[in-house]
Amino acid sequence: MKTWKFDALLQNDRWLQPAYITVDNSGVIQEIAENSENSYEEVKGVALPGYQNAHSHAFQYAMAGTAEHLPVGAQSDDFWSWREAMYRLALNVSPQDIRAIATMLYSEMLRHGYTAVTEFHYVHHNTDGTAYDNLAEMGTQLIAAAKEVGIDITLVPIFYQMGDFGVAAKDGQRRFISSTVDDYLKLYEKSREACTNYDGASIGVGVHSLRAVHAEDIIALFAQTATNIPRHIHIAEQQKEVDSCIAYTKQRPVEWLLNNVNLDETYHLVHATHLDANEVSRLCETKAHVVLCPSTEGNLGDGLFSLRDFWQQGGHWSIGTDSHVGLNPMEELRILDYGQRLHFEKRNILCRKDGEDSGEQAFMESVLSGRKAMGNLQQEFFAVGQPLNAVVMDHSHPLLATTSLQRFLATVVYSCDVSAIRGTMVNGSWVIQNQRHAKHEQIVSDFCDTITKLKNR
Ligand SMILES: [Zn+2]
Repeated sequence: MKTWKFDALLQNDRWLQPAYITVDNSGVIQEIAENSENSYEEVKGVALPGYQNAHSHAFQYAMAGTAEHLPVGAQSDDFWSWREAMYRLALNVSPQDIRAIATMLYSEMLRHGYTAVTEFHYVHHNTDGTAYDNLAEMGTQLIAAAKEVGIDITLVPIFYQMGDFGVAAKDGQRRFISSTVDDYLKLYEKSREACTNYDGASIGVGVHSLRAVHAEDIIALFAQTATNIPRHIHIAEQQKEVDSCIAYTKQRPVEWLLNNVNLDETYHLVHATHLDANEVSRLCETKAHVVLCPSTEGNLGDGLFSLRDFWQQGGHWSIGTDSHVGLNPMEELRILDYGQRLHFEKRNILCRKDGEDSGEQAFMESVLSGRKAMGNLQQEFFAVGQPLNAVVMDHSHPLLATTSLQRFLATVVYSCDVSAIRGTMVNGSWVIQNQRHAKHEQIVSDFCDTITKLKNR
């Protein structure tokens, strides 16, 4: 047993100030109180629930920031040319490579305050497209990476079948492919087994996109998988994808999903950038969640999600870092909010009634919806019986030291960077302190060796 004392701790409906949290030897919370008779360790910090990163493709971290030049001879650049560069990388990473990249990435996520990640994982097979002896070899390495640094992971093995609507997969997609629902279910089962290697791992089910899997197989897969795990799918990210979907199915992508899949709150629609008003309303009624990745969506020129209308109608949303061009959860929330403010020429669009606070709304929704994207149904930020997973803000930071708790979350969301974080706790122990992971040198060394070998930067 150990007791931590924080200057303050965020509960769903109030602050505890100060806060004493007692955990058992596994880091599970035994008591939360404003006073304690126990001996304790004091932290000059304010404990917030750990952020939830609801969408990651770990290998893409190896190319973060390297695709920001217009190719010689090109008039313009877009998502689709970026995708070709991403495929070249995807064809090269070995299981050891993906582990080293993911270990670096996940330690960086922890440094930025994320304590859980959903890995939307589709690089499954060997470089020649044949299956590894362990069908879930690459996913197993992702779980090993998460375990190495101490972040919770939800592995979502992705069903990926073809290149576009009615078009066979290209050679460059050979590592992604499961030809049939049965093939995918074998991969899913091996992935589920891999999750037993780590207490912090759980499983989800996922389809890459409407363009990557036959319609009847999407319907069949979602109909026959367990209903108590999260389901993820990319949807309507790019206008070209919407146009192709309309040409092929006579329906818009989200419209197709609404008409063909029994959406509910276990579904997490990634991006959902291009929605019409009817899709927004119908999607809200299903209680399905949306996962927004604002730094990547901005970087790739996807477009703006209809956040204001979706939120006004009770829609739920979380954030992810997708290609990892940005890793700061506050930046994700700001880009998301500021996109709406710039578009509508209004402020505080996240406040649905007077008296609300944009920082609180953004923080709480992204954490609580994010947990559901992990299959974590715990909706209390901190509760007895739950692990103590927290990002601890530095209460000696000049802005935070002088901010009332009433304005604290908004100050964190809109005006702090990672330097305002004292550390990150998972299972009641520090995994990051003073911006460093305990295994920092080894993690960086392995990552640099891997990137040097891949020669893609
Ligand atoms: Zn993605």
